[in-house]
Amino acid sequence: MPIATVDPTTGETRRTFEPLTAEETGRRIALARRAFEEHRALGFARRARLLERAADLLDEDRDSIARTMTTEMGKPITAARAEAAKCARAMRWYAAHAPALLADEHPSAADTEDSGAARIVVRYRPVGVVLAVMPWNFPLWQVVRFAAPALMAGNTALLKHASNVPQTALYLEELFRRAGWPEGCFQSLLVGSGAVEAVLRDPRVAAATLTGSEGAGRAVAAVAGDEVKKTVLELGGSDPYLVMPSADVRRAADTAVTARVQNNGQSCIAAKRFIVHTDVHDAFCERFTEGMRALTVGDPLNEATQIGPLATEQGREDLEALVDDAVRRGATALTGGRRPPGRGRGWFYEPTVLTGIRDTMRIHREETFGPVAAVYRVADAAEAVALANDTPFGLSSSAWTRDEGEQERFARDIEAGGVFFNGMTASHPALPFGGVKRSGYGRELSAHGIREFCEVTTLWYG
Ligand code: NAP
Repeated sequence: MPIATVDPTTGETRRTFEPLTAEETGRRIALARRAFEEHRALGFARRARLLERAADLLDEDRDSIARTMTTEMGKPITAARAEAAKCARAMRWYAAHAPALLADEHPSAADTEDSGAARIVVRYRPVGVVLAVMPWNFPLWQVVRFAAPALMAGNTALLKHASNVPQTALYLEELFRRAGWPEGCFQSLLVGSGAVEAVLRDPRVAAATLTGSEGAGRAVAAVAGDEVKKTVLELGGSDPYLVMPSADVRRAADTAVTARVQNNGQSCIAAKRFIVHTDVHDAFCERFTEGMRALTVGDPLNEATQIGPLATEQGREDLEALVDDAVRRGATALTGGRRPPGRGRGWFYEPTVLTGIRDTMRIHREETFGPVAAVYRVADAAEAVALANDTPFGLSSSAWTRDEGEQERFARDIEAGGVFFNGMTASHPALPFGGVKRSGYGRELSAHGIREFCEVTTLWYG
């Protein structure tokens, strides 16, 4: 894949970039390692001031970086601004909370009496240089939710961003530099995916985090395993969205539209499979389909647009193939199911609702990365849980029910990194984020996220 900004609204190549040579990449790894020695000694207070400064700059840059993101990957401009604002909030959150989240722990004397120590301290120390391999779908947020905690912990970062968002990648490097971070603390490596293995095998690189597809995760984890280096993997999802008879069905249907189409439908935690109890199925489908049909599809730079184009031509072809396969095997499109007429060269796809899904269809097992919803009808909670879990993925889930017994059952039985009751899944700096099964392992955000790239060190004093 060339490293280039290709506008998904027009298909036009705006800018191309030469990938870094192996020598230049090596020079940057060396710089990151040297920067680590200085950076780890800075202390929380200084690092927090740098992160707050980065947040302020990001707030000032909000309009321009939002335009860059929209031009590179097609998200509606309003969503791009919201993403930038969320990143600034997360930076401030980690600046404020990292010292407490990583404070030394002192096991009680009663618990450690027989260890022979006069005193024991458990300390969170940074691991060193962390490689972040990141996707294009939230080109700022995916990076910031890794970088803010990693930098606060004292690590340094090398970003290998997706090849279609190079200007956002360069902006991030520049942002941290302008905020005053020592040179080399955060660098973007404009390289293709083929260069990742060599970076990860470099002994100066300590660990890696990858957000992206299962294939990319497997490739990076295999190399990291071979090198005995830690990884965090945030991979794909096909989140279930359960609607039971006790739910507020209108609210469930209205929220379902947002949950499915946020970011033009290209979100790992978007609700993708709508599993609806037969008693409320028809009412839900009617309102949900109405909501999907009413969405404004168009130029993502237009303030009124709700759905822009898909980020890549390949992405649209993959989505079309999933829908076509489902329809060929008997699914019905209540709305959509095609490219919108008259939209020219952009990679647009109509918001789509499919019913009559069977387990023989590809869409039942694979992730739909675009504005396409698969709706299922179920007879009871047991069938709803079985269907929710009948997927290789387990990122998050949403369950609409006011029945406390059902809530307890779903909390226990749904195989996912989260269950959001009577609301849609969303990430927040204070909440752990991550999946189970093929959605990956490890957690981002919250205390769990910042500790992923720390060594838990036992200090024993005789
Ligand atoms: P992708 O093709 O896997 O790319 C993600 C990143 O991995 C890119 O930087 C890509 O580089 C790199 N990459 C691809 N193959 C690689 C390999 N074999 N070795 C090393 N690096 C490799 O995914 P995407 O299409 O950008 O993003 C969509 C996927 O990400 C979806 O499955 C989505 O669900 C998932 N996602 C997960 C989360 C989460 O938190 N769980 C969040 C967002 C997205 P190039 O661009 O140069 O190919």
